[in-house]
Amino acid sequence: MPLYEYECPECGVRVEVLQKMGEDGTALKCQKCSVVGLRKVISGCVVQTAGIGKTSCTLGGSSGASGFT
Ligand SMILES: [Zn+2]
Repeated sequence: MPLYEYECPECGVRVEVLQKMGEDGTALKCQKCSVVGLRKVISGCVVQTAGIGKTSCTLGGSSGASGFT
């Protein structure tokens, strides 16, 4: 199963979710502020969840407009 990254639209917390192809994050719940409906993060690189605050890769300022699928 592919690993997807989702971001909370409220607090910006990101979570990594294993899910089947075709599923979305509308039913996912933020663990921090309990907002339901996370948005998928389209990342151009692998982000390690090792407590690193910043990554060196550039995701682009205009998410969704860069054409990544
Ligand atoms: Zn949140």
